[in-house]
Amino acid sequence: MSLCRFCRHVQAVKSGKGSVFFLCTIAKSDPKFSKYPPQPVIACSGHVPIEPSESARKA
Ligand code: SF4
Repeated sequence: MSLCRFCRHVQAVKSGKGSVFFLCTIAKSDPKFSKYPPQPVIACSGHVPIEPSESARKA
């Protein structure tokens, strides 16, 4: 499973064909990161985990 799925910096983008891509939002300001990182991401220096309480609020 990819770290992006549980990262504060990710935005899920759905294509017209229904595929979902992970957009890394810090790529806008930091060229070290790819806008659409190859998946799965298993290690990332920019990863900031979402809090379990945040997940509960979104559910
Ligand atoms: S910072 Fe890393 S883990 Fe987070 S969305 Fe970007 S590439 Fe994925």
